[in-house]
Amino acid sequence: MICPALAKERPILLIKSGGPAALPEWQELFHQYSPQLDVHHWNDKDIPPERVEYVLVWQPQAGRLRGYPNLRAILSSAAGVDHILADPHLPAGIPIVRMVTQETRQRMAEFAAMACLMTQKSMHRIIAQQRAQHWEECLPQNNVGDTRVGIMGLGSLGAVTASYVQRLGFQTQGWSQSRKSIPDVRCYAGPQELSAFLGSTNILICLLPETAETRGIINRTLLQQLPGGASVINLARGSHLIAGDLLAALDSGHIASAWLDVVDEEPLPRNSPLWHHSAIIITPHSAASPSRREKAIHAASVIHAIEQGREAPHLYDPGRGY
Ligand code: NAP
Repeated sequence: MICPALAKERPILLIKSGGPAALPEWQELFHQYSPQLDVHHWNDKDIPPERVEYVLVWQPQAGRLRGYPNLRAILSSAAGVDHILADPHLPAGIPIVRMVTQETRQRMAEFAAMACLMTQKSMHRIIAQQRAQHWEECLPQNNVGDTRVGIMGLGSLGAVTASYVQRLGFQTQGWSQSRKSIPDVRCYAGPQELSAFLGSTNILICLLPETAETRGIINRTLLQQLPGGASVINLARGSHLIAGDLLAALDSGHIASAWLDVVDEEPLPRNSPLWHHSAIIITPHSAASPSRREKAIHAASVIHAIEQGREAPHLYDPGRGY
């Protein structure tokens, strides 16, 4: 049993992920993987702000994080950190750590593979036909081996996804800031190679982080560079896509279909035209969130590294913006 005097000294971790109902599970998990932590819900009013050393958060309210003077790290409950950077009062100099786990990679690769196969088999049309009780044979125009998947972003998720999709038989290529080397995946790099990458991509997958450079990147100009009949799968952030430009490209027939797992405003408003377009499949930001157990293991290892005076892994780099 921990004596109350010692318990007082335990570093406090506040959690805003999964709502108050998730707290008992978080406490149990951290008891298992990081028993030295004192774990509380983000809205616990009894916690003195100066005792908070760590937070594990998804979409923290603007201004809240600057209220913790002894904060040692901000742990994102997701791979992206845009939901933390959106805070205009974010305290400077506090390390921000991304949630990168093996489970996230596996789930993303599986989800992207499903979306590629369903896209290649024109499932959006088949689903629309079922809704209309319309029976009409719907055959793919070509084979998986004749279809080239292009992945924008070859980071922790994009690289694994590229290999996974390639093993399904798709011709696979990717585009990133710095050049990568992935077996059997053609790798493009930098803005100067974007056009060549797009021009040979039949199914475009977005797995970029949200940054000043990538916001709105899937716009009219980009869509026009894809070959006619190409499809778009956005698994990264809604802000990457200019929805009006996508709708216009779908309506013109230049783009055949789209799969949106993320949208600008989540949940997607009921009046959004994206809901009703027959060439769009919407999934509710479900591609690749890891389990709470994986998140706790990751967070525990990050906090352990910091407590030992080592640099935390998977740090957000303010210089790069991701
Ligand atoms: P990451 O490891 O930071 O990788 C980002 C990749 O994008 C890197 O390859 C990077 O190039 C490239 N990149 C960044 N800016 C670029 C630019 N301006 N031009 C070209 N390439 C650029 O990120 P990740 O862990 O793979 O995650 C990617 C995103 O997926 C997250 O930020 C999040 O938004 C999203 N996500 C979505 C879900 C979901 O459920 N839908 C789940 C998890 C994550 P370099 O390699 O050269 O640096």
